[in-house]
Amino acid sequence: VEDTGEPGSRTVRAACFSRIRTLQPLVRPRFVALSQSALALLGLGEQQVLSDPLAPEYLSGSRLLPGSEPAAHCYCGHQFGLFAGQLGDGAVMYLGEVESGTQRRWEIQVKGAGVTPYSREGDGRKVLRSSIREFLCSEAMASLGIPSTRAASLVTSDLYVNRDPLKSGQQVPERCSVVMRLAPSFIRFGSFEIFLGQDEFSGLKGPSAGQDDIRSQLLDYVIETFYPRIQQAHSNRKARNTAFYREVMIRTAELVAKWQCVGFCHGVLNTDNMSILGLTLDYGPYGFMDRFDPDFICNASDKRGRYSYQAQPSVCRWNLARLAEALGSELDGSEAGAILDDFMLTYEAFYLSIMRKKLGLLRKEDTEDSELISDLLRVMHNTGADFTNTFRLLSYVPWPEKSDNERATVGPVVDLILQQCASVEDLKVANKPTMEDKLRMTILSMAQNNPAMFSMVADRPGVAQQLERLSEIKDLRRLAEECAGTSDLSLIKKERLNAMNNTNPRVVLRNYIAQNAIQAAEKGDFSEVKNVLKVLEKPFSDAFGPEHLAGPSACEQKEQKATDFIFDYARKPPAWAKQICIT
Ligand code: AMP
Ligand code: MG
Ligand code: MG
Repeated sequence: VEDTGEPGSRTVRAACFSRIRTLQPLVRPRFVALSQSALALLGLGEQQVLSDPLAPEYLSGSRLLPGSEPAAHCYCGHQFGLFAGQLGDGAVMYLGEVESGTQRRWEIQVKGAGVTPYSREGDGRKVLRSSIREFLCSEAMASLGIPSTRAASLVTSDLYVNRDPLKSGQQVPERCSVVMRLAPSFIRFGSFEIFLGQDEFSGLKGPSAGQDDIRSQLLDYVIETFYPRIQQAHSNRKARNTAFYREVMIRTAELVAKWQCVGFCHGVLNTDNMSILGLTLDYGPYGFMDRFDPDFICNASDKRGRYSYQAQPSVCRWNLARLAEALGSELDGSEAGAILDDFMLTYEAFYLSIMRKKLGLLRKEDTEDSELISDLLRVMHNTGADFTNTFRLLSYVPWPEKSDNERATVGPVVDLILQQCASVEDLKVANKPTMEDKLRMTILSMAQNNPAMFSMVADRPGVAQQLERLSEIKDLRRLAEECAGTSDLSLIKKERLNAMNNTNPRVVLRNYIAQNAIQAAEKGDFSEVKNVLKVLEKPFSDAFGPEHLAGPSACEQKEQKATDFIFDYARKPPAWAKQICIT
């Protein structure tokens, strides 16, 4: 539909997109950072962009790119479990699509470019904080090999909006900033929810012919453009749609498995943030876990933990069920149900196969692997172990000398891993220590060579047996199995190291890392954003040995050089990281 020029809150009827006629330029737009690899997707070079004085205007939606047709997309969504009616691109402007060279097509969006017909009470702007977080994480995910929308540029400006960053009731002016994001498509599950009919927001009343027609068109567009093989394979429409729904289910299962395996929590898994292409979409209060905790909640406004770490797979399944509902008569109900029933198994298969790589179990699949993994995670939970660093350290487990079932000694690695655990002081805060707390303290005091603490708790009934049981995870029986029947141990060793170091990132975008970059950028220093981007572009790089993963005390003994920053990103978070609150 044509935009009438009337901004803000309104219901847009019977449309998937609304044209935007009036740009709302930033004041003195300038680049904070560019992503070379994302720009390359558009056939652009970093130098080329930097040498054009108008580039910050073009890339922030302040000036129109030639051939661009700005629009905002209409979508609905289930937010925190409830149907929220019409939402739409309230702060995002679609600029058009680019086909460059042999690359596929890329849709270009600017996020924070001002009000659209879908802005409701919002101002359509984004600030530096949220833009840095989206920019860095989009690119970090892509480098981790996790499907994601991309971020090509980050522009800030001298235009201000008021926000309450500390949720203290105090509004402060913040700089309007714009991320240019790219994806083959930004169509979401919620894009199909505008067809749920009846509701007062959609304006598409009842199951009219027109409504069905728009839904068929959108579905045809998505399948023909982004699932061409499915389009070609089926002459029967229902069968095609079923195959499409299955493929979306599989991509979603694979995506969430990849999230779980790097400890990523999305934070707002509403149906409007679920990509129809299985991409990570919409970076808000996301978080990478520091300590492993299945109940980890990264979004401070998610009081009930609907979107906690361990809830993510089932939430994705729930969202897929809403997609099936929205597709309605386009799907066969019982077939859709059967596909949904396969979701958890599909997810678990992806999860297990990545986890096996993380543990270096490559040659053989053991039925007990799943238990081995949950045992390891339980111990990590009990000890407050750092998720990223513990896994990264597993590749330093010494190679067993014997390839039979004899238990190998793993002492030194366990020590390294234990250094990734929370400190005794940290765990002592629990005012009524449970058996589990005592166990944690025991393990920790052992790690910290504190025999006094050890004897204080180790002689209590049950603790010794529990410790014994926990030591089972240190068993390298599986490793021995891996090499059974092979004479070339060095080859296995190399393969294993390679797989593990390419599955267990050395560095992820922890909140405190983003926070440091944000604080510097808010003072006008963009170098930390660029540094962090550079480090996150090579998350598996092993330029440094395991000693750099050691806790703060070990690092603080060393003299910090300017080039040492890179070590810091792989370290456990500083104490103040716990105070960071993202909503
Ligand atoms: P999100 O929770 O970020 O996925 O956003 C939910 C809805 O709020 C979407 O329709 C967004 O377009 C909209 N929205 C987010 N930020 C703004 C803003 N600053 N102005 C207007 N709408 C917004
Ligand atoms: Mg969103
Ligand atoms: Mg958002």
